[in-house]
Amino acid sequence: MKAYLIIIGDEVLSGITLDTNSNYIAKELDNIGISVIRISTIPDEDNAIKHELTKVFNSDADFIFTTGGLGPTKDDKTKQAIADFLSDTLVLHQPSLDYITDIYCRNGREMNELTRNQAMVPSRSEVMINRYGTAPVLWTEKDNKILINLPGVPYETRAMMTEFIIPKIKKGFNLPYIIRRSLVVVDFPESELALALRCWEDDLPEFITLSYLPSEARIELRLTAKGNNREELEYFLLQEINKLPVIIGKRLISTQTPDIQEVIAGFLKKNHLTFCVAESLTGGTISQKITSVSGSSAYYKGGITSYSVEAKENILHIPSEIIRTYTVVSEEVAKEMAERSAKLFNADIAVSTTGVAGPNSDEYNNPVGLVYIGLYFQKETFVKKYFYPDLSRNEIITRISNKALEMLYFKIIENE
Ligand code: ATP
Repeated sequence: MKAYLIIIGDEVLSGITLDTNSNYIAKELDNIGISVIRISTIPDEDNAIKHELTKVFNSDADFIFTTGGLGPTKDDKTKQAIADFLSDTLVLHQPSLDYITDIYCRNGREMNELTRNQAMVPSRSEVMINRYGTAPVLWTEKDNKILINLPGVPYETRAMMTEFIIPKIKKGFNLPYIIRRSLVVVDFPESELALALRCWEDDLPEFITLSYLPSEARIELRLTAKGNNREELEYFLLQEINKLPVIIGKRLISTQTPDIQEVIAGFLKKNHLTFCVAESLTGGTISQKITSVSGSSAYYKGGITSYSVEAKENILHIPSEIIRTYTVVSEEVAKEMAERSAKLFNADIAVSTTGVAGPNSDEYNNPVGLVYIGLYFQKETFVKKYFYPDLSRNEIITRISNKALEMLYFKIIENE
């Protein structure tokens, strides 16, 4: 089944409000097997609304969603436009009026004419009282299509979608099962990966689709299986996933999880190893990623954000001549940070980062984008140099946090 979303709002068109409603609705619909075929954003104007509705009712969409324009100030315009389009009239919906009156009384406010208008709805519409706001949600059937009018306020739209609209659609329509699996590939350029996967992709059953979602120098492979038999979908999806380690090798971090931290956690727990970090440029980001896994206290000893030279000297006890001789962004300092933090935390494994995130170069004139990652791994230390002169500060931090975890991951694979 298909859906068409109409986002009504001058403030969205002017760029003042970021449209988050369509994103939420599209994801919710996708989860239950309804494809969104188009999203349009239109002004809060009678003609624009009628014109768009006419267009969409001539399309092959089964569901038409609108958000916005239902509030007290715009009430007449949008709802009247909808009523006109449906060749209907607005009538008073007493339960909505009672509900709105109750809210006003409880807050010690007087009902006014505009607020009362919120309880006016097209006579043919089914009304869902919006317990998260005052504008009722409307569900109307016309020409074998369903028109659903939701409020603009994202919080209200989300709540009404989750609590009423999605369950009602699921109950009333025979929808396919959708099963998704995400796998993450690291250190593999997208075009090379696509070439490597070409034959496998060509042979996928037609009910399984593949998307490449690259971000932060990693590629998420998202497999989606759609059909009417859940067990069969699970079975075929697993068959296809199980072919991937042979094709991609160790750059596919796992067939079980897209989360590299989970893979690291599994290895550390299995081998009773402990881990710590000493971060400079990444400022705690690696620590945050590691502790995002529940149960990380079993192997994670702690982290130090030794951002300043003093912290490197006074807490990690890196000799000042090393910093003076090689500068703070150097292979030697990354090595010292990893080794000395392992000692400080009494850990088997340590990761360190030091670099220049920019926008300005450091006091030693190291260029922006120069980074060293250190890895102390069971009594041996490895350092890798990276240079990302074209990335922004935040991009460098994210990229390096990922690279640090990947460096550890590849060492783990070597030792497995
Ligand atoms: P209400 O009846 O609750 O006032 P409404 O249906 O009249 O809602 P609007 O007045 O259009 O909706 O918008 C209400 C608020 O929701 C505004 O702050 C607006 O910026 C925000 N909003 C509207 N549309 C969207 C959207 N598509 N994405 C995110 N926010 C939105």
